[in-house]
Amino acid sequence: MHSNSLTFTAIPDCVLVQGQLCCEVRLWFLLTLPMGRVIAVANQKGGVGKTTTAINLAASFAAAEVNTLLVDCDPQSNTTSGLGFEKDPERINSYHMIMGVASAEEALQTTELEQLWLIPSHKNLLGANLELVDVEAREFRIREALAPLRDRFEFIVLDCPPALDLLTLNALVAADAVLIPMQGEYFALEGISELLDTIERIRASLNPELAIEAVVLTMFDERTNLAQQVKAELKNFFGEKLCETTVPRNIRLAEAPSHGKPALVYDPRSKGAESYIRLAKEIIERQVLAFRQQPSSDSERAVAQEISTTEGTAEHREDQAVEEIPAADKMDKTA
Ligand code: ATP
Ligand code: MG
Repeated sequence: MHSNSLTFTAIPDCVLVQGQLCCEVRLWFLLTLPMGRVIAVANQKGGVGKTTTAINLAASFAAAEVNTLLVDCDPQSNTTSGLGFEKDPERINSYHMIMGVASAEEALQTTELEQLWLIPSHKNLLGANLELVDVEAREFRIREALAPLRDRFEFIVLDCPPALDLLTLNALVAADAVLIPMQGEYFALEGISELLDTIERIRASLNPELAIEAVVLTMFDERTNLAQQVKAELKNFFGEKLCETTVPRNIRLAEAPSHGKPALVYDPRSKGAESYIRLAKEIIERQVLAFRQQPSSDSERAVAQEISTTEGTAEHREDQAVEEIPAADKMDKTA
């Protein structure tokens, strides 16, 4: 537990963030979602930036002064240590939550940021994969555990392990949408068909609402031809699902976890922190756009109009249709 919680007004550079994000987020939540949006950060490929994305995206949402919960669903516990929590087998963690011996509420930890909470992990979570193997409805454990908390948070971000195991399945069943970080490198698409097939199977049986939130390029060096080629290939494949925002390779992002802080607390002026703030903004704008395209009542239409007049930054994307990604078997794995 941290006693000196920070609000983002305490960080001068983040006042700007608040100004940019707060209005949109508030209006959106006011009318669209009675419950928080659950985003699973998943890619079974290791080391592509899932944890870095989960921590810094969640911190950026919290920067917009909305209550955000980060759930560490990975036995490696990198999200937990990256937020400055020591290894402690006694602390209630996601293993206890998923096994049903403690509630999600009991597992909640406050963090250095006033509006960011964490459900930590511990390496004993690895055992859950085996211990749940014969349990009925084993894929619904995280979804059911988080249900009582959903109306307390605007965003719930789940950091997944680098495997399509029962923990990742649980996260995808609990999620409204999956955010896929991909490294901008040769063979970036390798293995992605497996993830897309899994998402499709989950939609068909366990969670029909599961959407692909977006695909984000991480550790991206825009100066190289290779990176540009990979970006073009991914754009071709994922269409509008590929985020405009890319996350650069940035030393501050790599250093911040060893100081137990999100990058926007460790160094709010860094390119890395800035890129995740932009990513949060883009994800929120995508939600606002999706909402604007389907207003279903007069009052919603009125607020959609209000959103439209109060923020101009997303205007240029108004005409963009949310494209379905191609079938997994049609993709070019060489990107
Ligand atoms: P795993 O599959 O093991 O869970 P992951 O997908 O969660 O890994 P991270 O742990 O986020 O990946 O990142 C892998 C390594 O790369 C870490 O050392 C991290 O600090 C570093 N890293 C991630 N993103 C960046 C970046 N944009 N710039 C520099 N270093 C980065
Ligand atoms: Mg990780």
